[in-house]
Amino acid sequence: MHSPRSSELEALKRRVMKLESELDSLQIGKPTRERLEVMSDVVVDSNPYSRLMALKKMGIVKNYEEIRRRTVVVVGIGGIGSTACEMMARCGIGKLIMLDYDKIELANMNRLFFCPEHVGQLKTAAAARILAKINPDVIYEPHDMDVTELAYFRRFCQILSTGGLCGQKVDLVLGCVDNYQARSSINQACLETDVPWYESGVSEDAMGGHIQLIIPGLTACFECVPPLIVASGIDESTLKREGVCAASLPTTMGVISSLLVQNSLKYLLRFGKVGFYLGYQALLDFFPSHMIHPNSECRNSWCTKRQLMCREQTERNPRLAEQFDFCAKNKLTGSDTVHHQENSYGITVEGSSCDVEEAERLPAGLNFLHPRFSAQDRQEDAFQQKGTSEDACPDWYRIESLRRQLKEL
Ligand SMILES: [Zn+2]
Repeated sequence: MHSPRSSELEALKRRVMKLESELDSLQIGKPTRERLEVMSDVVVDSNPYSRLMALKKMGIVKNYEEIRRRTVVVVGIGGIGSTACEMMARCGIGKLIMLDYDKIELANMNRLFFCPEHVGQLKTAAAARILAKINPDVIYEPHDMDVTELAYFRRFCQILSTGGLCGQKVDLVLGCVDNYQARSSINQACLETDVPWYESGVSEDAMGGHIQLIIPGLTACFECVPPLIVASGIDESTLKREGVCAASLPTTMGVISSLLVQNSLKYLLRFGKVGFYLGYQALLDFFPSHMIHPNSECRNSWCTKRQLMCREQTERNPRLAEQFDFCAKNKLTGSDTVHHQENSYGITVEGSSCDVEEAERLPAGLNFLHPRFSAQDRQEDAFQQKGTSEDACPDWYRIESLRRQLKEL
């Protein structure tokens, strides 16, 4: 039971935090360089976008500069959210809205992004200050806000509906929170405002994580498939056992935030195949991937309402879900197929989706450092997929294996 004195103290603390946040956002600081109006592809050392625009030159992304017109909201500026913000800023996102209410602690130093000199500062305001130095072209909007508090919920919905660069809806929300209640709030706000969001998380033992794209009505929402155990009627934070805290690793969080931003880029700029659900199991190096369809009996009435609207759309366009597989879409239309054009960089792209024979044609004067397998080698290669004896392996594998054995001796 709170005494009137403690609730007064609590209110004052919140007021101080709010004022600090306002002060911080006013003092984001002088930019480190002139703002650039246009993303240039000119290859000079002083151009921060030449390497990003190379994706366009190489035919991977048709419209990279459109990123300047996109707005992303990141809820939770912790282990995943802070690095996701950094990657978004470095990629040149148009506007980055950051929501959190927490301050930086020394206990956060096993994670990336923040440094000891930031301890005690609000995560949102400190992130805005750091990122403004890295990329002053991005518009940063920090909000000291707990999305689980009823008082802030309408404000949160308003940010999603009108936070875009021209006062329109934001393009995507990244949920980087660590509890069920906050995920439910993001889910509710996104269903009501019809804004897609990526849910993300890492497991308590730091050995895995996931990302999940939730498009209202089209894919399962956060409540369509409820978790097996939830806290009911009590504060989740009180469930933490005395002296025991969840494990966290910068590596696992780095993997999940990278997968999150990678897929967000594909979604925002319409290239590649957007991952709907992508898991990561660190101990096995296993990445399960699939789509979770919505539950027609979802207990959230906004979800069933969005499903109905989506069904009407699907009747007109049965391939609605395929619209996020831009590779297949390009193949279907036979146009704009992603391929690696001749480019002035003399770079050849390596990747599972590219034509390997084409990738093996290097500019004159360049050779591969290691021997590479031909298409025939790959067909015959049963080393990994069928688990056959080493006799069936190409010579290079055998040499590697002998080297390993020698090293062990
Ligand atoms: Zn649902």
